[in-house]
Amino acid sequence: MPPSPPRAWAEINLSALRHNLRIAAETWPDMALMAVVKAGAYGHGLEDVARFLSEENIAFLGVANVGEARRIAQAGITTPIYLLGATWSEEREEIVRHHWVPCISSLEEARHFDQIATAQNTVLAVHLAVDTGMGRGGFVTENLTSTLRALRELDGIRIEGIGSHLPSADEDEDFTRAQFQQFTHIINLLGGPHSFRWRHLANSAGLLGYDPHTCNLARPGLMLYGISPLPQHQEKLQTVMTLKSRVTLIRTLPAGHGVSYGRSFVTTRPTRVATIGIGYGDGYPRHASGHGPRVFVREHFFPILGRVTMDQMMIDVTDAPEIQEGDEVELFGPHVSVTELAAQSQTIPWHIYTGITPRVQRIYF
Ligand SMILES: *Cc1c(COP(=O)(O)O)cnc(C)c1O
Repeated sequence: MPPSPPRAWAEINLSALRHNLRIAAETWPDMALMAVVKAGAYGHGLEDVARFLSEENIAFLGVANVGEARRIAQAGITTPIYLLGATWSEEREEIVRHHWVPCISSLEEARHFDQIATAQNTVLAVHLAVDTGMGRGGFVTENLTSTLRALRELDGIRIEGIGSHLPSADEDEDFTRAQFQQFTHIINLLGGPHSFRWRHLANSAGLLGYDPHTCNLARPGLMLYGISPLPQHQEKLQTVMTLKSRVTLIRTLPAGHGVSYGRSFVTTRPTRVATIGIGYGDGYPRHASGHGPRVFVREHFFPILGRVTMDQMMIDVTDAPEIQEGDEVELFGPHVSVTELAAQSQTIPWHIYTGITPRVQRIYF
C-alpha cells in the first residue's frame, strides 16, 4: 500500500528546547533544574523529550505519576525521577526499587515507604512537601518541626529535599513574593538551608519572575516548551512545537452559503474556502471557534470560518489566490502564538499542549 501522509503533525524543535533550558539555567546562578515532563512532556512526547533533556545538565525529571516514571525508566534514561503527585500504596514497592523520589505529604505514606525500604534493605531519598498556599498536597505549615522530627526517626527514608508549589505566580505577585518569604522562613525554622540538599518552590513563572531566596532547585515546565507564563519574558524563549496540517480542498462558495456546523458563519461574498485536515479530534481547541482564531499559510494569516469540526476546519483564502491544495498550514508555532489561541479558547497554553491527541504524529528535528 502507498504511504498515507499524516493530515496533522507536530514538529518538535529540539534545539529550541535546549535554548529554553539554557535560559532557565541562566536565570539564577547556581540554580539546578528539575525539567518537568509530566503529561507526555506537555504533549511534546515523553520519551523523546526526556531522553533529550537527560543529556543536558539537569538534576531531575519531574513526572506526575508512576506510569510516566516507568516509561522513562523503560526508555533506559537514568536521570533521577521526581514524582510531583501523590502515590498509591500499591505503587510504592516499585518506587523504592527504582529509587524514584516521592514528595511526602503525610506520616502514613512516610511510614509505608520506610517499611518497604527497610524490607528491601535500602534507604529511599524523599522530599518533604509543604503546602504554602496551593491546597493540593504537602503538609500544612503547622507542627512542621515535630513532623520533621518524626520523619527523621524513620531509618528507611532520608529527607533529601523540601518543596512547595506556587498557585498564582503568574497572577498575584504580592502573594507569590510572600510565599517565597514564607518558604525561606519554614526552611530556617527546620534547621536552615543546609538541612536540605534540595530546596524548591518555583515553576516557570516563579523562576522567571521572582527572587529565589534560599531555593537551589527550580521546576520549570511550560517555559522549556517555549511559552512564558509572564508575557514580559516571552521574547527570550523559542517555540518548540509547531502544529501543522495541509489544505486538503479548495472551493469557491457563493454569497449566502453557510460554513460548518450550526451555520454560525455565512458568506457575504463569493468566498474561496480552503478546507484543512485538522480538527478538535487532533486537539485543536473547538472553543476557539468564533473568537478570531487564525492560521498561517505561505507567509499570511487566514481566519478560521465557523466552527472547528472533529477532523477538518475551513479558512477564507479569497484574497490569496496563490494558496493551493496541499499547502502546509501552521495552526500554532512561531507565527501563531499558542498563548493567543489559548485566550481565544478561554483556556491556558498548558491545556492546549496537553490536549494534542495521539493521532498527531510528533516529528523531531
Ligand atoms: C506542573 C508543575 C510544575 C511546572 O509548572 P510550569 O508552570 O509548567 O512551569 C512545577 N511544579 C509542580 C509541582 C507542578 O505540578
